[in-house]
Amino acid sequence: MSNQTQSKNDNTNQDVDFDVVIVGAGINGAVSAAALSAAGQRVLLIDKSDFASFTSQQSSNLVWGGIKYLQSYEFMLVFKLCLARNRLMRSYPNQIKQIGFLASLGKTAPFGRLLGTFGTLFYWGIGLFGTNAPSSYSATQAKALEPALISGRKAVRYYDAYLPDTDARFVYDFIRHAKRLGADARNYTELIAAEHNQNWSLSLRSAAGQYQVSARAVINAAGPFAANVSQLLESPTKAGLVLSKGVHLTLNRKITKGNQVLAFWDEQGRLFYVLPMGDRSMIGTTDTRVTDPHTAVDEVDREFVLRQINNQLEGVTIRPEEIISERSGVRPLVIENSAQAKTQDWHQLSRKHVIEVNPSKKVISVLGGKLTDCLNVGQEVVHEIAKLGFRTQKPADWFGEGDQSLFERFKEDLLSRAKDKVGAVRIAESIWRRHGSKAMEILGSSSEIEELVVGLGITSEEVEYIIHHEDVVTREDLLRRRLPIAMARSEREISENLKLQTLLERAGL
Ligand SMILES: Cc1cc2nc3c(=O)[nH]c(=O)nc-3n(C[C@H](O)[C@H](O)[C@H](O)COP(=O)(O)OP(=O)(O)OC[C@H]3O[C@@H](n4cnc5c(N)ncnc54)[C@H](O)[C@@H]3O)c2cc1C
Repeated sequence: MSNQTQSKNDNTNQDVDFDVVIVGAGINGAVSAAALSAAGQRVLLIDKSDFASFTSQQSSNLVWGGIKYLQSYEFMLVFKLCLARNRLMRSYPNQIKQIGFLASLGKTAPFGRLLGTFGTLFYWGIGLFGTNAPSSYSATQAKALEPALISGRKAVRYYDAYLPDTDARFVYDFIRHAKRLGADARNYTELIAAEHNQNWSLSLRSAAGQYQVSARAVINAAGPFAANVSQLLESPTKAGLVLSKGVHLTLNRKITKGNQVLAFWDEQGRLFYVLPMGDRSMIGTTDTRVTDPHTAVDEVDREFVLRQINNQLEGVTIRPEEIISERSGVRPLVIENSAQAKTQDWHQLSRKHVIEVNPSKKVISVLGGKLTDCLNVGQEVVHEIAKLGFRTQKPADWFGEGDQSLFERFKEDLLSRAKDKVGAVRIAESIWRRHGSKAMEILGSSSEIEELVVGLGITSEEVEYIIHHEDVVTREDLLRRRLPIAMARSEREISENLKLQTLLERAGL
């Protein structure tokens, strides 16, 4: 770890006494921190690496009701996920965008146009009509909508939502809320030992050294590492996790027309997507059972993903050299009983989360789940803490984008100052999306507003603001998680961006 990391993580002299310590700052830890702080608890959120640097930075960036679970008749799960999606869409009008999924009904599709039409109408209904209405298309209409589709294939279109700035940025938004509500959030801080008498005494390790904090309760939100943390807390859970690896590849170009997701069924009969990643396309995913949470994209994954895409599109051939970035993560899937871990068919495991409580030690473990279900996780954790006897108030104002009334004024102001009007619209929308009304302060009154990373709406002023205000310790924290630069641009493009390099060097990153 660099000296930079060391100096920014010297927590040894900070607060040491908390109501709740949350171990793990992926989506489940971040929502718990925001909700518990809003409920009046003194919260410390820690992550052994950067915030959202494990599973929660490797998703498909979708906020969705889980249309594919209709095939396994999990209607209640789909209903709940759709409600969760609708609520998130209402609360995040900029950070979560509705998007059409054009599903191509080729040979590998499990149904034809008639059943597809019925299924998407049912999905729309079970989601209480919270999105645009679905539609179905003849082969000619489908081809006109998406020239890359194989000719002669019919299609259906349904709607869900996605995170234009990526999953990790969305997680950071909850951390910002938590900090605003008084939480202490420390990245690069690991729980290494724990002792319970009446309260918890927790040994934490950061770059500055080892130190102790105390807590009345601990939340285990360690994702795929939940069992390790349970072990440290000597608080085993009844439910266990199995891990399913999924990869995505981002290409150096956009291969779809317009802003839509292209969906089809791969050679294993699983849904496969072409998703937007900034102004490029991301393709995936896979579903391979693994035991080690640490994964990386290997040759077999790359070959599989490229074969699917090249088999399903017409007039498009993707070569390995066109890959600019890769994502690989494990879905932590809950199994009711850890003894079943070896035999359970993981393709059938749904994405429900489970919350288990050890009342005598005051440990709450959050297992599994999805980004989409995050608000429910936050609320349930507050409910469980209250049941443990903590005095809580009803959490308010712990998520969402807040006041939107100034956006049009901000955009107009920016347009009047910028030479490149198209770039200015991109900057206005994307900076507002990431920072809300803080966007005005970030851009200041300079007359030289221009994109630092052309096409992504990112400016030098924003990069500097994030470096100084958003817990950035390493280059990757900035380029991969606070901003989507390292996902939507190749290493070469990043190293050739001299203005960006100067900013990074100046910040010691
Ligand atoms: C390929 C793929 C695609 C997906 N697509 C979607 C999607 O489109 N939509 C959706 O809603 N969901 C999706 N998911 C699911 C979703 O990403 C996960 O369910 C979610 O991110 C899990 O979050 P988490 O907080 O439980 O775990 P994590 O994000 O893994 O967080 C756990 C954290 O705990 C930290 N930690 C562990 N041990 C310690 C310790 N001792 N001390 C301190 N910190 C510790 C880790 O560093 C880590 O950051 C997808 C998942 C995958 C893998």
